[in-house]
Amino acid sequence: MGRKFKKKLCQICKQKGLRKESVIYMKEHRLALCKEHFIEWFEKRVKETIKEFKMFSPSEKVLVAVSGGKDSQTLWYVLNKLGYNADGFFINLGIGDYSEESLQKVKELGKILGKEPYIVDLKEKVGAPLPVLKNFVLGTACSVCGRIKRYHFNKIARELGYRVVATGHNLDDESSSLLANLINWNLKYLARKYPVLPEEKGFPRKVKPLVKLTEEQIKTYADLVGVPYTNRSCPLGDTANLHFYKHLMEEIENHARGTKYRFYFEFLKKVFPIFNTLKEELVEGELQKCKICGEPSPSEICFVCRLKERLQKKETH
Ligand code: AMP
Ligand code: ZN
Ligand code: ZN
Repeated sequence: MGRKFKKKLCQICKQKGLRKESVIYMKEHRLALCKEHFIEWFEKRVKETIKEFKMFSPSEKVLVAVSGGKDSQTLWYVLNKLGYNADGFFINLGIGDYSEESLQKVKELGKILGKEPYIVDLKEKVGAPLPVLKNFVLGTACSVCGRIKRYHFNKIARELGYRVVATGHNLDDESSSLLANLINWNLKYLARKYPVLPEEKGFPRKVKPLVKLTEEQIKTYADLVGVPYTNRSCPLGDTANLHFYKHLMEEIENHARGTKYRFYFEFLKKVFPIFNTLKEELVEGELQKCKICGEPSPSEICFVCRLKERLQKKETH
């Protein structure tokens, strides 16, 4: 059946008169690279992104939110490899084996990097693991989890003196969520869709240095350099919607090579500035300090402190 797949040769090696098999062919760049040249290309691309969006300077310390998955683990690794001062921070959500395995992968990478990760345990900090907490609020497990995670990213960064928090979002995440939010005209979300959000209103700067890289490129890099990660996805998450839009974006990409990248980066250049001028109107209004924990919150008592209260009073939804 069919012809045998012939591996392409590394194009950079070829220019130097060498014949070396490639480890990846990136259709959107029409580029085939060997292990050595792909690693070099990948790291250069991360560095370029950090500089282009003025994410942080080599003298700033960065807190990397690591989940144990390939993207954020790779981010923590590559930032250190590039010489940045990046520390890992993991929230143990208490979701059975999934959280246990994730924690092990974070610790394993910490050993490779010679850095001890910061670990926050939800049971200790809030009083219960996520599978219990989700019964005390309206909304899906993912939306509750997202809010709890963001609260802790902000709080821990401030307590530990980090002004920058980095997450592992990649080009597939960003382009497919842009598509989903455009289709639903979710303006509030679009006004905040940028790879760097400035430090403001008591929140640290938020950066996404992997936005120019696809899932496939990140996975290839992680496997080549030996970054440990878990392949499991969260058992609580209803990811059907997410996967639908990722699949749709992939279909569009297969139809017209390079669309994924153009769709997202042209949005940043041409459309985001318009939404951003409306930010104050679109995003929640004034923030105040939570009366209990002091974190910025749109109401007198923040989401997490209210959740703790409900948990103590056993007020389920
Ligand atoms: P997700 O919303 O699960 O796709 O995760 C988005 C980003 O949030 C990841 O790339 C990580 O940087 C960060 N993140 C997710 N889960 C955790 C966790 N349990 N602890 C720390 N950071 C996390
Ligand atoms: Zn090469
Ligand atoms: Zn609070």
